[in-house]
Amino acid sequence: MERKFNKAVTFSYDDGVLSDEKLASIFNRYGMKCSFNLNSGLYPTEPFIYDNHFTVYRHKSAVQPFYQGHEICMHGTKHLNPVGLSDAELDIEFRDDKTALERAFGTEIIGGAYAYGAYDDHAVEYLRNLGIRYCRTVEASRSLQVTGDLLKLKPTCHHKDEVLFDLIDEFLKTEADTPQILYIWGHAYEFDGDENWERIEKACSLLAGKPDVLYGTNTEVFRYFGLI
Ligand SMILES: [Zn+2]
Repeated sequence: MERKFNKAVTFSYDDGVLSDEKLASIFNRYGMKCSFNLNSGLYPTEPFIYDNHFTVYRHKSAVQPFYQGHEICMHGTKHLNPVGLSDAELDIEFRDDKTALERAFGTEIIGGAYAYGAYDDHAVEYLRNLGIRYCRTVEASRSLQVTGDLLKLKPTCHHKDEVLFDLIDEFLKTEADTPQILYIWGHAYEFDGDENWERIEKACSLLAGKPDVLYGTNTEVFRYFGLI
C-alpha cells in the first residue's frame, strides 16, 4: 500500500520541567506532537540552574494533564549519567523509570532519551532487553534521515542549532518519495533562560498545516515509516 506521507515532523523535549506546559500549548496550537522525556524519581526535587542564570523547576508529579495527546518517554529515574552503571544500577535508573511512568500514565513506554545524551554499549543493550525501541542522543545529524540503531538515535538538530531554519526550509521544499523526518529536540526551560520562545513559535508556524506532512510523536512517526 502506498504511503500517504513521506515527510514527518517530530519533537523531543526533556526533563519534565514547568516550562513544558507552555511548550505543549504551543505545540497544540500548531498541531505538532512531541515526545516528552521524564524522570520519574525527581518529583519533587531541588531546582537547578541553567546557563548560570536561570533557575529551573520540575513539576512535583510527572503526571500533568497538558501532556495529553503527546507521548511520554523515559529519561532515567534520577537523571544519572548511564555510562558505567552496573546492571543493578540500570535496574533502578531504567527499568524502574519505565515501570513507574507506565503506572503513572497508564501507557506503555517504548522510547526515551539518554540523560546528558550519554550512553555506552552496556546501557544500549540493557534498554534493548527492556523492550525500549529507541533512545535519543544529543548528536545532531543535521539531516532528514533516521538511520542506524534507534537506540543510538541521532536527532536532526537542537532548536538552538544555527542551521535550524535552513533545515526547515530544506524539509519544506523537499519533494520526497522516501521518508524524510525533521526531528527537533531541546529543553523547554531553555526558551525561558534564553528568552527566545519566538524561535519555537516561528519553527512551528513555518511547519504547520502542510498537507504532505505527518505530525506525530516519535513513536507515531517511527511506526508509520516502519522503523520500529
Ligand atoms: Zn535531561
